[in-house]
Amino acid sequence: MNEKTSAKVRLYVEHPLGAGQSVPLSRDQAHYLFGVMRLGVGDAVLVFDGAHGEWLAEVAEAGKRGGVLACREQTRPQQSPPDLWLLFAPIKKARTDFIVEKAAEMGAARICPVQTDFTNAERIRRDRLQAHAVEAAEQCGGTYVPEVAELARLDRVLADWPADRQLMFCDEALVGARAALAGAQRGKWAILIGPEGGFSQAERTRLRGFPFAHAVSLGPRILRADTAAVAALTLWQSTLGDWG
Ligand code: SAH
Repeated sequence: MNEKTSAKVRLYVEHPLGAGQSVPLSRDQAHYLFGVMRLGVGDAVLVFDGAHGEWLAEVAEAGKRGGVLACREQTRPQQSPPDLWLLFAPIKKARTDFIVEKAAEMGAARICPVQTDFTNAERIRRDRLQAHAVEAAEQCGGTYVPEVAELARLDRVLADWPADRQLMFCDEALVGARAALAGAQRGKWAILIGPEGGFSQAERTRLRGFPFAHAVSLGPRILRADTAAVAALTLWQSTLGDWG
């Protein structure tokens, strides 16, 4: 519920927003707004498109299979996230869903599932994970949705690594060491979290050799991969990101 507008629903739409714009609704969106949330013509909805901020819109047409929103006024400017990617090795379904949801809430700009030496998952449902990211952005008040990339092999991702992007390599072998992001520069970054089995020695050696990589500890305990993702995002956002 938004106090200023009494809008009960916040919706991501893939349609450019602006004053007076008509925004067509998909079947799923119409079902959600009119079937589940029981909205009707004249009701307020908050919408964002990932590029033009958040807008107050009004239901102009409501049907079973579709509908139209009329865009009224901007309620929030566009806020772009820091240029942070989250690379993580997919684990069990519910925990992978959790990681994607939390990464979207924590302000990752891009979410990249990677296959490491000890990753069990052979495939992911990218569309499902993307839908989780959309839902998380709708809930948390963000004005952008991080893109979920296709699953890629870590060695290939590293082979094509952009030289201007630094990597916060969360290395469980450093458990108990000091966190060590001090002195790191702001800019383009990525966080790398391993699977439940951790990184192989070959991966660790290779990663530590890259000039762009910063091996980092997440404290004195070994965290599960989903916990580690949230902890790493917290550490990064509070040191180098948009927490102030
Ligand atoms: N099975 C491994 C732990 C893997 S934990 C072992 O017992 O050694 C899953 C991932 O979370 C790790 O690959 C790492 O990226 C991250 N992680 C967990 N705890 C960490 C810590 N204390 N410091 C740095 N990274 C950590």
